[in-house]
Amino acid sequence: MSEDVNPFESLQEQIDDAAQYVDVSRDVLERLKHPERVLETTLSVEMDDGSIELFKAYRSQFNGDRGPYKGGIRYHPGVNRDEVKALSGWMVYKCAMVNIPYGGGKGGIVIDPSEYSASELERVTRSFATELRPIVGEDRDIPAPDVNTGQREMNWIKDTYETLERTTEPGVITGKAPDSGGSLGRVEATGRSTMLTAREAFEWLGKDMEDATVAVQGYGNAGWNAAKLLEDLGANIVAASDSSGAVYRESGFDARALKDFKRETGSVSGYDEAEEEMSNDDLLTLDVDLLIPAALENAIDADLAEDVEADVVCEAANGPLTPDADDVLQEKEVYVFPDILTNAGGVTVSYFEWVQNRQRFYWTEERVNEELERVIVDAFDDLVETFDSTDAPTLRVAAYAVAIGRVVDAYEQGGNWP
Ligand code: GLU
Repeated sequence: MSEDVNPFESLQEQIDDAAQYVDVSRDVLERLKHPERVLETTLSVEMDDGSIELFKAYRSQFNGDRGPYKGGIRYHPGVNRDEVKALSGWMVYKCAMVNIPYGGGKGGIVIDPSEYSASELERVTRSFATELRPIVGEDRDIPAPDVNTGQREMNWIKDTYETLERTTEPGVITGKAPDSGGSLGRVEATGRSTMLTAREAFEWLGKDMEDATVAVQGYGNAGWNAAKLLEDLGANIVAASDSSGAVYRESGFDARALKDFKRETGSVSGYDEAEEEMSNDDLLTLDVDLLIPAALENAIDADLAEDVEADVVCEAANGPLTPDADDVLQEKEVYVFPDILTNAGGVTVSYFEWVQNRQRFYWTEERVNEELERVIVDAFDDLVETFDSTDAPTLRVAAYAVAIGRVVDAYEQGGNWP
């Protein structure tokens, strides 16, 4: 894990790497490397003991050429301005890669939510929602869950917005609980697109998913749902981790039982079915068929990449590989399926949620999953078609070429407005 790689610089490098595969002028490209605006705010919130605590919070609106800004809000002590800017840019290219009509945004609060009570978190969330109110809206900017946030926080944000605006507008935010206007299938959507990408990737590469060995770094919402769905396809989840460390079992875990253990104890470490406990870095360098980084940015830097032995990497996290790690894995001929496709299921089902909210007409889970499969498989086909028909060196470069091309088309068709 590399602390000193700035994710915003990584994003800019990724855009530059793809530039030669897109018909775009230098100045238009430069425009696509910077956020349109960033809200930085300091929330002052009353704690349960009556004291006041301050929290830094951000919302970056990166690009709106293809539609309203879209992207999650994370609660993490490591949140900072450049991280939020990078994450908002990755959302632009993710939405373009899967061809849904959104731009990109991202938000975050510098907080370790495990240190606060539910009522404190509610006040922090409502305070941020109040700051966001003038810049969000179902046609303007639509937040969603990200690291350490979920239905509960989305419901609070929706309620705060609707109360202040004196309206009902469930499409102002996605990832809500189904009774508050959320979509069925949203919770497992990121894991589902990871499974779909891996399934298509294995087919494309002529590899068998039955008995394939899989290591999952990060057994949170994205990682565990991917593990469960891959297990259902016959794969073997041989290793999984969280911030407490990793567990390994040669014959594979029962993905659901491992999740139950984590739910009860708070971590995967100490699981009695494990044959070995190891570090996250050990897990990332296991000799497996499929490696799924599903935690945070910069999990694999160039040094660690030298030791990666997986055949295929599917990025369920945003930005888990540094650009230098990408170069090393390219040389080692490891196929890396980029985050902007692999984890796009979350935002895709957010799009379906927003469509359902606006129509006030709700879909079955079966329909959600079918539509998601269509979007991801089409995007996968677009990606490998570009990879095969150009000399793009990596799947990431090909993905950015597709995505940047779509953003540039929207921009150029609309023209520049000073
Ligand atoms: N936070 C998720 C992501 O990084 C989902 C965003 C959304 O649903 O808008 O893609």
